[in-house]
Amino acid sequence: MVLALSAQQLAAMSAHAERVYPEECCGLMVGEIRPEEGESQKRLMKIVPLDNEWTAEAFPAEDSTASAQTKRRRYQIAPEDMLQTQRQARAQGLAIIGVYHSHPDHEAVPSECDRALAWPEYAYVIVSVRSGQAVDVQNWALDSAHQFRPETIRISPSSARDRMPVSA
Ligand SMILES: [Zn+2]
Repeated sequence: MVLALSAQQLAAMSAHAERVYPEECCGLMVGEIRPEEGESQKRLMKIVPLDNEWTAEAFPAEDSTASAQTKRRRYQIAPEDMLQTQRQARAQGLAIIGVYHSHPDHEAVPSECDRALAWPEYAYVIVSVRSGQAVDVQNWALDSAHQFRPETIRISPSSARDRMPVSA
C-alpha cells in the first residue's frame, strides 16, 4: 500500500505541526482506498486539522509519569471529532484513511504509545519538528503483527497542474 497525496497537503500538515509547536498537532486524513495496478493506494482527498485534546486526566492510570505526559509528547483526538469526520466523509463516499500528528524535537518515528493506540487499516503520518521547523515527514502502517512499518508516500499527479508545463 502507498499513501498518495499532493505537495499542498503535505505542506498543510507541516504548517499545522509548526503552528502548534512545541505541542503535538493532530488531525485526520480523509480519502479513499483505490486498487491500482499492482499496488493499492490510499488516496488522500482532505486533511482535517483537529485540536490536540490530550489531558492527563484522561489517563489517570498513568499518573506516576504525568509530568512527562503533556501535549508536547502526546496527542488525543476527541471521539466526537472522529465521529463527525467519519460522518462527513461517508456522506461524500469517502472514509478516514489515516491520522497525522507531529513529534516536536523528536524523530518522525512512532512511539510505543502511537503503536499501542494505532488502527490496523490507517496510514500514520508523523511530522518531525525541530526548533519550530518541520524537518521530516514519514508515513507508517501496521503489519499483521501490529508493528509499524514504513509506508511509501507518493506525491500524487493531482499536484501536476501546479508544475511548469513540459514542452514536447
Ligand atoms: Zn507520536
